[in-house]
Amino acid sequence: MTDRAKISLRPETLAASIGVAADTAFGAVAPPLYLTSTYEFARYDQARQYDYGRAGNPNRDLLAEALTALEGGAGAVITSSGMAALDLLIGRLRPNDLVLAPHDCYGGTMRLLKARAWQGHCSVRFVDQSNETEISEALDDAPALVLIETPSNPLMRIVDIAAIVTKAKEVGAAIAVDNTFLSPALQQPLALGADYVVHSTTKYLNGHSDVIGGAVVAADPGEAQELRHWANVVGTAGAPFDSWLTLRGLRTLFPRLQTQQANAMAVATYLAEHPAVTAVHYPGLSSHLGHAIAARQQRGFGAMMSFELTGGVEAVRRFIANVQCFTLAESLGGVESLVAHPATMTHADMGADARSIAGINDSLLRLSIGLEAEADLISGLEHGLATLSNAT
Ligand code: PLP
Repeated sequence: MTDRAKISLRPETLAASIGVAADTAFGAVAPPLYLTSTYEFARYDQARQYDYGRAGNPNRDLLAEALTALEGGAGAVITSSGMAALDLLIGRLRPNDLVLAPHDCYGGTMRLLKARAWQGHCSVRFVDQSNETEISEALDDAPALVLIETPSNPLMRIVDIAAIVTKAKEVGAAIAVDNTFLSPALQQPLALGADYVVHSTTKYLNGHSDVIGGAVVAADPGEAQELRHWANVVGTAGAPFDSWLTLRGLRTLFPRLQTQQANAMAVATYLAEHPAVTAVHYPGLSSHLGHAIAARQQRGFGAMMSFELTGGVEAVRRFIANVQCFTLAESLGGVESLVAHPATMTHADMGADARSIAGINDSLLRLSIGLEAEADLISGLEHGLATLSNAT
């Protein structure tokens, strides 16, 4: 860690300053980009700090240092994607180990867990983690790993991290929290007792929709070291340029999220009052089932939401054809607003049965709220919704 990080600076300062003016060669203020696959040895049998790019790279390490500081962990591994970060954790399980995952997790996470279970790497059980009876019964099966995703994707269900941690620790399970939807700016799972935080850095941490990346932050230094070793063994490390870009994006994480979540609150309030909308899933609304837990466990309600339209798939088609200011695309957490239809996009691979169990219906749309002017976002949505109101 640089000297700046050692003297307990506030998270906003850490995000803006880790690695700044640390270049000893030319005094560059922005961290230099090290595009090298290999490093010269100092002499016979004596490597320098780095020897080979799969094992280590200064840009990857700087990003890992920043995420470790922001999540309050002991160390981090930067991977080539969010899925690679999850697979890094799963890869260290034994064939009989059970993973307890949310029934409404990101579709790609469900696909990965099912695939690894099918291959015999582990077994997996999907449960409604917001249902106390269901999770308590599932913990009786002594899982090795409990994976939590809160808020969940796309229904924004909130679970009480500290409560699950307490129960999971009683049965000796490790706890990993996918913190992609909020980032450490709004939620710090390690402080609530989790062992690992997983990120798709593709989303808020990078924030500009131009990188695919991931990270695992560990609470325990030995575990962080093990994960780093395992990332080298399997070769899942993130690219130096992606790490450099992600650190650059991270500089503005706090102000971005502040504006994005203010926009989100305005959009959610507008949607909740619209006659063509039957439900709005945004934890910032006091009507949301998880509002009280979110208010306690998070430092803000984030900028993701989903909502349901009257009129089924036909209404979805018409809305998507007419909405403005929102681009129809997967992913989230960038500066631009996006709309996605989970049933045919992000959660298509889950299959209709798993979607129905999770409560993801064909009328559901997910929004990632960006940095545009609030009034333009609302007019853009109005443009799409007016075509439904006129038709009904
Ligand atoms: N976790 C969550 C909550 C996600 O939404 C995603 C992707 O959308 C991932 C993990 C996977 O990340 P990546 O696309 O970077 O592999």
